[in-house]
Amino acid sequence: MSRIRILSEHIANQIAAGEVVERPASVVKELLENSLDAGATRIAVQIEGGGTRLIRVMDNGAGMDEDDVLLSIERHATSKLRDESQLAAIATLGFRGEALPSIGSVARLTILSRPRDRETGTRAEVRYGRLHAVHEDGCARGTIIEIRSLFGNVPARKKFLKSARTELYHIEEVIRNQALASVDAAFSLQVDGRPVLDLPAGGGVEQRVRDVFRCQDPLLPVDFTAGDEKNGIRLSGYLLQPDASSSRTNRLRILVNGRPVRDRMVRHGVVEGLQGFLMKGQAPAGALFLQLAPAEVDVNVHPAKLEIRFRSSREVHRFVVQAVAAAIRAYQEEIRSDIFSIPAAAPEQPAAPVFTAEAPRHLPSSSPPAAASEPAESVRRAETMVRQSAEPAASFRHDPEPFSVVKPPAGLVDFTGLTIIGQFFKLYLLCEQDDRLIVIDQHAAHERIMYQRLRRDYLRRDIPGQNLMFPVSVELDPRQLETLKRYDADVALLGFAVEDFGESTRVIKAVPALVSHLDPAETLVEILESLYSAPRDEPAAVVPPRIDHLLASMACKAAVKAGNRLAPAEMFELLRRMKESELFSHCPHGRPVVKIFSKQDIEKWFHRL
Ligand code: ADP
Ligand code: MG
Repeated sequence: MSRIRILSEHIANQIAAGEVVERPASVVKELLENSLDAGATRIAVQIEGGGTRLIRVMDNGAGMDEDDVLLSIERHATSKLRDESQLAAIATLGFRGEALPSIGSVARLTILSRPRDRETGTRAEVRYGRLHAVHEDGCARGTIIEIRSLFGNVPARKKFLKSARTELYHIEEVIRNQALASVDAAFSLQVDGRPVLDLPAGGGVEQRVRDVFRCQDPLLPVDFTAGDEKNGIRLSGYLLQPDASSSRTNRLRILVNGRPVRDRMVRHGVVEGLQGFLMKGQAPAGALFLQLAPAEVDVNVHPAKLEIRFRSSREVHRFVVQAVAAAIRAYQEEIRSDIFSIPAAAPEQPAAPVFTAEAPRHLPSSSPPAAASEPAESVRRAETMVRQSAEPAASFRHDPEPFSVVKPPAGLVDFTGLTIIGQFFKLYLLCEQDDRLIVIDQHAAHERIMYQRLRRDYLRRDIPGQNLMFPVSVELDPRQLETLKRYDADVALLGFAVEDFGESTRVIKAVPALVSHLDPAETLVEILESLYSAPRDEPAAVVPPRIDHLLASMACKAAVKAGNRLAPAEMFELLRRMKESELFSHCPHGRPVVKIFSKQDIEKWFHRL
């Protein structure tokens, strides 16, 4: 007699359950997918005892008749795949026909379902893999699936479950992710009778993202397409602002062709696209939807369908980087035109003249526009402020490009569109614009401006160094010497000129101009230390993370500090540079640079509304 036997259906199901049903959340995921595949628009989930006592999922989908109910609990029974050609381009969430039989083999499963065209429904009960009872039963159109005593027959599995709180967290995550994938369906979750999540339908993607992330702040929209209709690829969705307080729910959720997945490559692309906007160690958060031809993705590489494989993953990566970078730029342009708009008082003003401290450009030569002869109030105030400035030609200390007094020539509308009210706390610039109060963190703003310039210079291999009048010698320890040797090209690119001078002594002949006011030896040692401890991976054509970090700390050192009193001209110059900086809304550490208070906000403080 042969020793090899075909496994019984029951054992096969239990083995499959080992892969598909890892924890209560995996059951919820499979059930949600089934409800959505059945066209449900309202799905209610109820959980008791962290999911081991009860998981109940109720939907208003297509429902099943008696035959289908019985088939649904057979292994490899599915209504979603007819032949293998469909496997190459799967459009439903389920397709393996394994979930219900697998779940049914490790729990007590009840199905109650009624299709639209039937008067009564069917109730079927499966106990640990064996059909226990089937009979007619009354029920609303749709399906109710109940799972009790999950893992009741596999105590080893049950022991591996975490606390009820952890299991609930995973269940919530599954619902949040699926809710992002299916914004047209309403989802709710009740835990031990208490409502925990309520995600109504009808508000579109943006509202769903807000509901899922519980976020009221402005979101960063992403929408980028490449290729044509058939072979095209699109990334859309919303990112949270980098400073959005990070909670466990605030993470990056990636959906590929409507399927929530974990994908390191896409994630990496997002991080890279956000470079310079998110600092190292900060995680991106938001919901991004990647759509591409189904044949470009293999979804059948993971039993719980949590991972996928891209056919051309390098191209997808590049696309994601571009898409996210474009979103950041568009977002900046929006804030730029919002806060730096020319005041409404001067609508005929031609495109905002680019105004530099060195050489004020042209005034409109021929007939000046009406607004020019009647300068807006903000301009008059600005000019008065500039004239009143006590310190002449004040400049930010240590700034290689000193700020000089900018005197808006008569007739030229205030070039930033903002009226400076003053400086608060020697840190915040208070500005007025239309009926809004705009508060700018001078340090964060300047830091961002400096950082943008450093990055640009670095990418052009052109960070200005400044020769020291008196070269400084520095004693390095073996590790620092080793680091200097390995990264000598990077150190030079940063603006240093360092020469050997005996065994462990080096002579610093030039330092990055931006930090020329700092102790050269200390700066070099600090940079060597961060080069030593930083990760080594560096994709080409972007700033390597370790250098990025250095640029940010150089920018921080060089920027005006909290506590520096600024002359009006300096404030203007800061605003002007902000206006022209590619990114300006957040400092390189992700802190906001600008906060806007509307008249209503302020009137609310005083109960004037
Ligand atoms: P799959 O989803 O891979 O097809 P499942 O075991 O999850 O496999 O489900 C088996 C079949 O049962 C499905 O193909 C579907 O026809 C039916 N089914 C499951 N859940 C529902 C539901 N909530 N509403 C309607 N039909 C369902
Ligand atoms: Mg399924």
